[in-house]
Amino acid sequence: SAALQRAESLILEVPDYPAAGILFRDITPLLADGPAFRATVDALIAPFAGTFDVVAGLEARGFLFASAAAYASGAGLMPVRKAGKLPRPAAQVDYALEYGVAVVEAHDDFPRGSRVLLIDDVLATGGTLIAAHALMRELGYEVAGTSVLFEIEDLGGRAALNDPQLHTVFHS
Ligand code: 5GP
Repeated sequence: SAALQRAESLILEVPDYPAAGILFRDITPLLADGPAFRATVDALIAPFAGTFDVVAGLEARGFLFASAAAYASGAGLMPVRKAGKLPRPAAQVDYALEYGVAVVEAHDDFPRGSRVLLIDDVLATGGTLIAAHALMRELGYEVAGTSVLFEIEDLGGRAALNDPQLHTVFHS
């Protein structure tokens, strides 16, 4: 659609952020455009219609798309949070960053066996989503699929994640 094409043009490339040599994809101009944002959310969930009970969003930009996707599909919403933000974390998974480690945590507010659609804004090395997959296994949930707005192909995230149900709307 025209709105989806405009959405792609509204993902800006910001050189040297947050560090020298990194080309950061900034999705906030896309959020600012109502029809582009709506088309993007629709494109994230379309391949998975009827296959999930819950939408999980990864902190923080994943929340923006996941909450809209949950609303649009009538599914519940699971915030997957960074360390120390949840009052009663049920499970946590550590994962390696370029420097140091990070942690993802979630509550277990859904029945075991719930089918979860994971959503994030950008797939880079895949580390964040690999950790989210492990977190879902830990909680006894089934990953129905993984849907990401923008895939940075050079960084190998798709191969690292190895989810046959990975859908990305735009890519580099
Ligand atoms: P990965 O774990 O795949 O290396 O990195 C993906 C995570 O880092 C996502 O949660 C995403 O929000 C963030 N991220 C990495 N690179 C970018 C980028 O260029 N733009 C945006 N918006 N987020 C990024």
